[in-house]
Amino acid sequence: MNKIPMTTPVVEIDGDEMTRILWKMIKEELILPFVDLKTEYFDLSLPNREATNDAVTLEAAKAVRRLGVGVKCATITPNAKRMEEYHLSRQYPSPNGTIRAYLDGTTFRTPILTKNIAPRIPTWTAPITLARHSYGDVYKDTEYRAPGPCEVKLVSSDGWEKPVFSYGGPGVALAMYNTDASIESFARSCFACALENKQDLWFSCKDTISKIYDGRFRDIFETVYKTDYKDAFEAAGIKYFYTLIDDAVARVMRSSGGFVWALKNYDGDVMSDMVSAAFGSLAMMTSVLVSPDGCFNYEAAHGTVTQHYYRRLKGEKTSTNPVATIFAWTGALRKRGELDQNAALCAFAKALETACTDTIESGVVTGDLAELSGAKTGVTSEAFLSAIQKRLENI
Ligand code: NAP
Ligand code: MG
Repeated sequence: MNKIPMTTPVVEIDGDEMTRILWKMIKEELILPFVDLKTEYFDLSLPNREATNDAVTLEAAKAVRRLGVGVKCATITPNAKRMEEYHLSRQYPSPNGTIRAYLDGTTFRTPILTKNIAPRIPTWTAPITLARHSYGDVYKDTEYRAPGPCEVKLVSSDGWEKPVFSYGGPGVALAMYNTDASIESFARSCFACALENKQDLWFSCKDTISKIYDGRFRDIFETVYKTDYKDAFEAAGIKYFYTLIDDAVARVMRSSGGFVWALKNYDGDVMSDMVSAAFGSLAMMTSVLVSPDGCFNYEAAHGTVTQHYYRRLKGEKTSTNPVATIFAWTGALRKRGELDQNAALCAFAKALETACTDTIESGVVTGDLAELSGAKTGVTSEAFLSAIQKRLENI
């Protein structure tokens, strides 16, 4: 069979543990037999981050900016326990944090729906895409543990200052930031995503309490909408809707889905796990970071599935779901295909996605989906991947 040619490489960012094992299997069984794959490879496994003093992470982010499209495997964000486990010389920061801080932008997460897996919220008949602002806020905050009575102030070099709190005893404080430029690019990418998908855009924050900080988010969204998107939204028959975060949460639970929900960084972190769990499984959620200058980094929304990895190390076969990681690859290959006008590559991405959903709908599923789909048991990752490969060969 002739393999599909590629012109520009995608940035391939390898990772850790169980997802690293799946990564290799996905490439060998589902991509390399069909595509003349071109990638620029970066190994972000913890041992290689240690060997390069984490320089590899920034190099990968730079490659995504240069080439425009990346696909990333899940990676460990080390804590104290991981430092010991992997004999690290320091506690490296979250690779996703480093990549997001470099590329800026918005993370969009969309559940993968199949006919035989009913969402846990019965009214959700269409996917909800979460758009998480991926810059600043509590992820880049400055925190202070006040040891005892003290006066904490917020001071700016332009002369502005304000007391935060007068401590009578020990306590904690934090300061966080964002920029108009990042909020505006967040807003633009959300409006563009809603328009592309012909879906309403919801944005929610807490501007009644956080009048200046969250108020800035609300104002910028409003201005971008009025100046650049109102006409296009009206022509497409879709709406922009702002409401407070608590009201939004209640409305989302009663909704039928089918919209883009834009959230600040922390709200998006929390809500995306709730939405993916409610749609079925963390392993059925895709994630893409879209930067303001039009770069795309695709990944699965879940982590490295450590517990399954430890079982693998003992020689056990696991039933780990590779679907979100496969969809990270198809997302990247499709985007590369669109940018390079490579229709065959786009068609391959679609065929691979269909092979995955058809396999699940035929009742062949991994353990996380067994109960939800009514299958008796889950098959091993190996059996699941070879079932997908068989379907792909016949599409
Ligand atoms: P996780 O890897 O997402 O796994 C949490 C649990 O969710 C698993 O134990 C498993 O449940 C289930 N699960 C997740 N993905 C699955 C899949 N593909 N198939 C089947 N079940 C799946 O989260 P974690 O255990 O909190 O984190 C593990 C490591 O991943 C950490 O070191 C963390 O730093 C890293 N992490 C990386 C990213 C990223 O790179 N984007 C994101 C999150 C976490 P059962 O055990 O019940 O089967
Ligand atoms: Mg999270």
